[in-house]
Amino acid sequence: MSVAVTFLGAAREVTGSCILVQAGRTRFLVDCGMFQGGSESDAKNARPFPVPLSSIDFVLSTHAHLDHSGLLPKIVRDGYRGPVYATPATADLLRVMLPDSGHIQEREAEWQSKRARRAGARNNGEPLYTEADALATLPRLSAVGYGQRIEPAPGVSARFRDAGHILGSAIVSVTVRDGGKDRELVFTGDLGHRGLPIVRDPSLVDRADLLVMESTYGNRVHKGMEATIEEFVHAVTDTLQRKGGNVIIPSFAVGRAQDIIFLLADLTRRGRISGITLYIDSPLAAQATQVTLRHPECLDEQTMEVLRWREANPDRFRVAVTSSTEESMALNSLRGGAIIMAGSGMCEAGRIKHHLKHNLWRKECSVVIVGFQAQGTLGRRIVDGARWVRVLGEDIAVAADIYTIGGLSAHADRDDLLAWAGNFRTPPGRVFVAHGEESVSLGFAQELRDRFRWNVEVPEPGHPFEV
Ligand SMILES: [Zn+2]
Ligand SMILES: [Zn+2]
Repeated sequence: MSVAVTFLGAAREVTGSCILVQAGRTRFLVDCGMFQGGSESDAKNARPFPVPLSSIDFVLSTHAHLDHSGLLPKIVRDGYRGPVYATPATADLLRVMLPDSGHIQEREAEWQSKRARRAGARNNGEPLYTEADALATLPRLSAVGYGQRIEPAPGVSARFRDAGHILGSAIVSVTVRDGGKDRELVFTGDLGHRGLPIVRDPSLVDRADLLVMESTYGNRVHKGMEATIEEFVHAVTDTLQRKGGNVIIPSFAVGRAQDIIFLLADLTRRGRISGITLYIDSPLAAQATQVTLRHPECLDEQTMEVLRWREANPDRFRVAVTSSTEESMALNSLRGGAIIMAGSGMCEAGRIKHHLKHNLWRKECSVVIVGFQAQGTLGRRIVDGARWVRVLGEDIAVAADIYTIGGLSAHADRDDLLAWAGNFRTPPGRVFVAHGEESVSLGFAQELRDRFRWNVEVPEPGHPFEV
């Protein structure tokens, strides 16, 4: 059986993960992610799918982050009718995230067309997809537990293994029966950072005929978890001591938000911080936290311990969840003592923009960056030291302290990636390094060649590779 893979996104860039696999007569996708950051991304998200969607037999979803799942509603609206396989936790997260994403798309489209009309320009005002499109996607989800083998097409079987990245995240192994011989295709999705809160460490893989490996942080070594936690404690306590100081944490609602909640609870439990109030200004983050609590099968032992402590001491760590817009706006008048967490994680949309507008120009406040910031995003400009930024149509001075806590990244760093690769007993037949900025992927590919003598390529997007 001939096998060909085409990278439709996340090749020489980080976002838009979507791999089209043709195995004999079976056609499937590994992920169907959204491009994020900048106007170029909007164009990429809007372009038509390169093959008829009715010709795709199934989708394997590695995890719920939108850069891996965010275009599922678009392909379903445009004619995809097959199943979307995911772990039970991923499926539950998608049930929360995709409708939310549809809602954001609708609001964004409305805002864009208003702006276009004011500028005297034309704009069709069509959202990328709607909340209704997302809701229509949910019945396609089919939950598959870690380790369970499914056969979604004749001669093609698949299995999810824990990727240790966010709740439910998976490494996908696909076995293609080829005459008497099996061929193993392994897609890492996003690999987790060892020692991360909440989730376990990534599962090890020791053989593959084809390996597609992420490389988000292939050029970087995160600070150790201990040092990271000290930095975080310093950022929080230092800011809250200052008169009027608020801590603003832009965060992905899914994954990072739960890490932060868990970490603040654990730090309170251990007496490192006390008397804090965490405002979760993100209905999505609140829902994702509920999903996390419903999936103890995914949680590591330390997390279970914190949950038991929290149950016994509900008043030691105050968490306020805002649901209505009014409640959210009331946070704008908080002058000190608050930790406010909101999305989006890269400051491109959502309620975080209001909190930045009200706190970024105040030198007693701080912004604690806890996640990856893609090129072209507002979050990246803040991290890169911009003196002022444009937020909600206004120029806002950046006077607050900016802390970048890199060690909390849900992504494996270079050493994690190399350690994971070191578990292969024989070199994979062919290796593609994806999901990284171009220079990072190229550098990491060289590292794999130097260290393991692997046959490594950094694919260009859009054209098929026979394997
Ligand atoms: Zn991810
Ligand atoms: Zn990703």
